[in-house]
Amino acid sequence: MLAQVAVCLLDIPAHKTGTAFTKPVDPLPGKAIEAWEAVRPDQPKMLDTKTGEHVDLLFAMRARRVAKVGINKTIIPSLCRKAGVPTADVRGNITSHRARSTVTSQLYNAKEPMTLFELQAWLGHRSADTTQHYAKITPSTLSKAYRDAGYFERNVRTIEVLVDRDAVEGGAAAPREPWQYYDLGHGFCSYTFFEQCPHRMACAKCDFYPPKDSSKALLLEAKDNLQRMLAAVPLTDDERAAVDDGKAALDRLLGQLADVPTPAGPTPRQISTRAQATLLPVIDINRRPT
Ligand code: SF4
Repeated sequence: MLAQVAVCLLDIPAHKTGTAFTKPVDPLPGKAIEAWEAVRPDQPKMLDTKTGEHVDLLFAMRARRVAKVGINKTIIPSLCRKAGVPTADVRGNITSHRARSTVTSQLYNAKEPMTLFELQAWLGHRSADTTQHYAKITPSTLSKAYRDAGYFERNVRTIEVLVDRDAVEGGAAAPREPWQYYDLGHGFCSYTFFEQCPHRMACAKCDFYPPKDSSKALLLEAKDNLQRMLAAVPLTDDERAAVDDGKAALDRLLGQLADVPTPAGPTPRQISTRAQATLLPVIDINRRPT
């Protein structure tokens, strides 16, 4: 044992869940063991009932091994009192097993976490199933993993919607009168049920489409009573592939939609203008619409 180095190597004898092995530990327990060995009177070797060998036991006094119950019921409570920490928490008494479980969970949820395979070796378990009982994933680690998986970023696109309040308040928001405009980047979609249009990710420019440079779109954007909102659009598998996999997937999506009628009636092939090969713009959902 070298307590001065960054990591100490601790020899663990055969135990109930595995054979003898060596594990790295923090220098702190290494120093504590050295201090204990320095003050403890020499002890004779004692029989290890699991291997039949005579070995040096760390926890031994007066030629007798310290019973596990003595560690949990006497030594740990007295150490807790000395350190000024409670001897129990909501899960019960602080025991050697609890400490082992807590350290394992912390290593599993660390910034640079140990894998289950590494923890299995570190704990000396024969089976990874046993390790899983120790390595509990914390809510914050689970939240981070979920965030990193980017489910919503990958499956939902956010689009800006312009609401013509004059049209709404003036009663023009009747069935065929446009009053909300979905900003596609290159133009607007004035179809009320934009989210249901199969061409929404690669607009076919049907009759509901005014391009950004058209007089209608310029007039709309110049209005005072224009409210900007954000709408979330869940993506289909093909649309997400077009977002994730690039041009080939986007061309495939356009090919699939070539003969699919637009809400205005004609298909993209009949409109003859090739569908706009531009995906919905990405909008920072933390940005407040003005
Ligand atoms: S095809 Fe027509 S309805 Fe569909 S997104 Fe484009 S403009 Fe809107």
